[in-house]
Amino acid sequence: MLIVMRQDATPEQIQGVVRAIEARGFKAHPIPGAQRTAIGITGNRGAVDRPVFESLPGVLEVIPVTHAYKLVSREVKPEPTVVDVGGVPVGGPELAVAAGPCAVESLEQTLVVARRVRRAGARLLRGGAFKPRTSPYSFQGLGEEGLRILAAAREETGLPVVTEALDAEGVDLVEKYADAIQIGARNMQNFSLLRRCGKASKPVLLKRGLAATLEEFLMSAEYILAEGNYQVILCERGVRTFNSHSRNTLDLNVVPLARQISHLPVLVDPSHGVGMRDRVRPLARAALAAGAHGLVMEVHTHPDTAYSDAQQTIDVDTFRGIVEDVEVMRKLAPLFP
Ligand code: PEP
Ligand code: MN
Repeated sequence: MLIVMRQDATPEQIQGVVRAIEARGFKAHPIPGAQRTAIGITGNRGAVDRPVFESLPGVLEVIPVTHAYKLVSREVKPEPTVVDVGGVPVGGPELAVAAGPCAVESLEQTLVVARRVRRAGARLLRGGAFKPRTSPYSFQGLGEEGLRILAAAREETGLPVVTEALDAEGVDLVEKYADAIQIGARNMQNFSLLRRCGKASKPVLLKRGLAATLEEFLMSAEYILAEGNYQVILCERGVRTFNSHSRNTLDLNVVPLARQISHLPVLVDPSHGVGMRDRVRPLARAALAAGAHGLVMEVHTHPDTAYSDAQQTIDVDTFRGIVEDVEVMRKLAPLFP
């Protein structure tokens, strides 16, 4: 259910509606818009008593939300959400480019990559300190030391940091050091992690699960918003299909559709999506043509020596070329509001 306030509703009237919602044991989600404030209601089991809310001062109308996803949908918030990652807007007219190694390997490696991707045009630094690896014997990341290294790289380059939290308990640490918390593909339906991130003070980059439908993807985002964190970025990173010619299949079909249904920004990670470094650039171009708000890519100064995901990691020259593509693609007429 969504309560739309009148354009001239006062802050007191908005507060009054919030109190009335909470008095019934529901959760209120005020969503300020360009014209008026809307207030989403979640936590109700059955129907909400519509006439009660319709009669409150300042209320224009009470409308049922038809989709399963509510807070993430454009029905509830027609204007696009711009997420602020350490001062860098994601979801606005500027396309956001996040770059960095798959894993933080050392201070030296991270500083060198961060400096070079910044000079090449990156706006955000990515890199895993906690790595979700298929094998328990593979490099698992440097843990908190990796987070300290990322913070040092931010200090020097000014690039805000996006890094993964593997579980709900790990969010405290990641939240302390990072500018955005990444939820990895394998964790897209880790509900305790989603709920914890919903209470976090930092934005969340939510990656699509390996076999998740768009509805499941949006419902996972809904978990985070339902807990009160509205700063969520969706990231398509490829799904499993029958094909054997690439690591995953980058599902760009999802980009325009996610943008139609949801107000949340949508980034694309062509590195994991295709899995081979020579194909990252064409897929990056395609992602922007499909309407992505930006890209997340694995970049290393010596890709062949990368501790993880070396085969899909591009070098800095290739990255610079992609940033040039971004400049070209930015001039395309926007497909969506
Ligand atoms: C990553 O970004 O390095 C990563 C592990 O991504 P994903 O969760 O999409 O596999
Ligand atoms: Mn990786």
